[in-house]
Amino acid sequence: MFKLDGKVALITGGNGGIGLGMARGLAQAGAAVVIAGRNHAKSQQAVAGLREQGRRADAMEVDVTDEASVGDLIARVIGLHGQLDILINNAGINIRKPVQELSLADWHAVMDTNLTSAFLCSKAAWPHLKAAGGGKVINIGSMMSIFGAAYAPAYGASKGGIVQLTRSQATAWAKDNIQVNAVLPGWIDTELTQNARAQVDGLHDRVLARTPSNRWGTPQDMAGIAVFLASPASDFITGTAIPVDGGYSVMG
Ligand code: NDP
Repeated sequence: MFKLDGKVALITGGNGGIGLGMARGLAQAGAAVVIAGRNHAKSQQAVAGLREQGRRADAMEVDVTDEASVGDLIARVIGLHGQLDILINNAGINIRKPVQELSLADWHAVMDTNLTSAFLCSKAAWPHLKAAGGGKVINIGSMMSIFGAAYAPAYGASKGGIVQLTRSQATAWAKDNIQVNAVLPGWIDTELTQNARAQVDGLHDRVLARTPSNRWGTPQDMAGIAVFLASPASDFITGTAIPVDGGYSVMG
C-alpha cells in the first residue's frame, strides 16, 4: 500500500530541510527522486547522500519562479525517466517584515517562490501525471496557512493561497486520477527556521511552549506524510490540508 517502486518523484527545494526529508522518505519507499533547486552543489551533495544509501536520485537546477526554467525542468525529468508520477511543490522563502515595511519586490519574491511556483510546476507536470494514468501532487503550506503573524504578510498570503490552489487542483484533476493535497508543517528545524531563530529573540522557547509534543519537528518527521500522500494508501484523499505539527494547530 505504501510502496513507490517504479514511481518517479520531483521535489522542488529538495536539496535540504523539509524537501530533503520528504525526498528521503519517497526514495526509501522505492521511488526514483529528482531533487531540484537553484544551488546545484547543495543538490548534488543531497543526491550523493541518497545514492550512498542505495537510492535512485538525481539533481537538477531550476528557478521555480521562472516559467521557462520550470518547463525545462519537467522536460529534463521526462527525458531522464520517461514519466513523472509525484510532484512535491516545496520550494519556499520568507522575508520577515511587517506589511508597512515590505516592498513590492519583497512581496513578489515571496509570492512567486511560494505560490506562483506551485502553479507553474503543477501546470507543467499535469500532462505527464495524466499520461501516467494518475499521480500525486503535494503542496507545502504552513501554520501561516491557518494563523496570522505580524512579520509574515506575504508569506502568510502565499501559504493561505497554497491551500486554495490545492482545493482547485484537486477538484479539477480528480477525473484524471490525480490527488492533490497540502501539508502544513509546524515548526521544523531547517535553515529557514534557523534564520528566524537568529532574528527573533525567544522564538525557540516560545515554539516549545506552544507545541504539545514539546519539541521542534525534524525533516525526518516529514517523510511519513510524504510517503502516505504519494502512495496508493491515499487514493481517496484529495483537496485536504494536513498539519504535521506536533499538535501546534490544536493547542488552545
Ligand atoms: P529551506 O530554506 O531549508 O529550504 C528551502 C528550499 O527552497 C531550498 O532547497 C531552496 O533551494 C529552495 N528554493 C528557494 N527558492 C527557490 C527558487 N527560486 N527556485 C528553486 N528552489 C528554490 O527551508 P525549509 O525546508 O524549512 O522549507 C521548505 C518548505 O517548507 C517551504 O515552502 C517553507 O515555507 C515550508 N515550511 C517550513 C517550515 C519550517 O518550520 N521549516 C514550517 C512551515 C512551512 P536552493 O537554495 O538551492 O534554491
